[in-house]
Amino acid sequence: MDILEETKKLSDGTFERIFSRNDMNFFGIFTYNCHLCNIENLPGESALKTHIGGKKHRGRLLPNYIPNANKFRATLFTLKCEIKFHYFNLF
Ligand SMILES: [Zn+2]
Repeated sequence: MDILEETKKLSDGTFERIFSRNDMNFFGIFTYNCHLCNIENLPGESALKTHIGGKKHRGRLLPNYIPNANKFRATLFTLKCEIKFHYFNLF
């Protein structure tokens, strides 16, 4: 199963994808976002896998952790603007 297809049940009973992938960056690698932990721009698949294996992420995957649906969607919505901001700082 593709990790990018994984979903999490939110407080309103709907399911959203946990991860999303950004366009290829300046260095030619894809960066990933974890909406569950509100983490952006994990550089490459290895960084994504390291994140998935981390304590924080695994704790949030447990069924007793139920993300607030509004907050979860807010991170999805603001993400694109923030990524532009990061690039602006980088160069
Ligand atoms: Zn995470």
